[in-house]
Amino acid sequence: MPSESKEKLNPFHIAQQQLDEAAEVLKLDAGMHELLRWPIRELTVTLPVKMDDGTTKVFRGFRVQYNDARGPTKGGLRFHPDETIDTVRALAAWMTWKCAVVDIPLGGSKGGIICNPKEMSQGELERLSRAYIRQVGRIIGLEMDVPAPDVYTNPQIMAWMADEFAFLKGYNEFGVITGKPIPMGGSAGRGDATARGGIFTLREAGKVLGIDLKGATTAIQGYGNAGSFGHALGDELLGLKIVAVSDSRGGIYTEDGLDCEKVVAHKKKTGSVIGFPGAKDITNEELLELDVTVLMPAALENVITAENAENIKAKISVELANGPTTPEADQILHKNGVYVIPDFLCNAGGVTVSYFEMVQNAYDYYWPLDLVHERLDAKMTAAFHTVHDAAQKHKAHNRLAAYLVAVERVAEVVRLRGWA
Ligand code: GLU
Repeated sequence: MPSESKEKLNPFHIAQQQLDEAAEVLKLDAGMHELLRWPIRELTVTLPVKMDDGTTKVFRGFRVQYNDARGPTKGGLRFHPDETIDTVRALAAWMTWKCAVVDIPLGGSKGGIICNPKEMSQGELERLSRAYIRQVGRIIGLEMDVPAPDVYTNPQIMAWMADEFAFLKGYNEFGVITGKPIPMGGSAGRGDATARGGIFTLREAGKVLGIDLKGATTAIQGYGNAGSFGHALGDELLGLKIVAVSDSRGGIYTEDGLDCEKVVAHKKKTGSVIGFPGAKDITNEELLELDVTVLMPAALENVITAENAENIKAKISVELANGPTTPEADQILHKNGVYVIPDFLCNAGGVTVSYFEMVQNAYDYYWPLDLVHERLDAKMTAAFHTVHDAAQKHKAHNRLAAYLVAVERVAEVVRLRGWA
């Protein structure tokens, strides 16, 4: 994340500002608008964890349930040293709009724990995960609020959490959490769903823009779940030529294109993509400004800001990350004709397959992989075109268009329920 500049970079203030813009276009009445600006419920927890050296370390965690008008709240859980209540609030708001834009019957939520998982052992991570569920367990459940993986959390962590929840309840309720390992109630296709959904929206963008994506040069910022599968599937499904990728330590570039399997193996061995044989090391900042057709921000929030937006040369920005672009940057990209596939549309594949996982858990009957892919494709393609059409109709940039679609869907149910 760039250092704080004149532009306001508090993600929750950004989320509220984005909503305010949509509320004005939709002419939402004041009560409705105010209700949608705030989380419905928040829980802050304090988690004592026995560390391997025998000491007790106390961690802080959050769970924010933003809006449950359309169904149980849904959203991932991040383990990150820079987590704050405001990042979690923003991410919970974006989950609300994300579930609405792909039209799945869920509200939005998010969780976070302030910790550095890179410095913790597996045993410490397990005890932290279980401690979180002992506190947050009272407000989650298949019909209430369902966590999932996000930055620095994974299927093993989901398995520990589902197990701890089973002890709280006295029986297995695997649908309390998604992104679980497949033998423990996970869904086929959940692992790469975020990137796969994003690649489906990129495919559709290529069609409406008349851009041939086969061989299109691509740079990927971030090499976690979303970024690394974005590399693999961008190559496999669309034939993109991925010339640059990066992680928190830096990036690599080669005009001949990077082989995904080899980069993944290198990162596994060395801990980073940097130093990849035959490629040139570059910075994350340089990667974002490369002269490529496709840019995929796939790491954290606030990477495309007022400071660097003028220098973005990509034709399409595929936002696999949550919140990568600030409102000022959005205006600049729009003015410069960069086609942005906004985060809560672009990366909604993850929560869409999480929803499929909840459905499968609820009736204890599991779908084959090709059915998951087919249903995911249908959801993402429909959502993409709804947003693209709204952008044309309102002469708005795609993020505002996505807000118009999503906020109207949530507001409609809030009205029907008589809340505002
Ligand atoms: N953490 C992912 C997201 O931001 C997935 C959420 C989920 O599956 O509930 O969309």
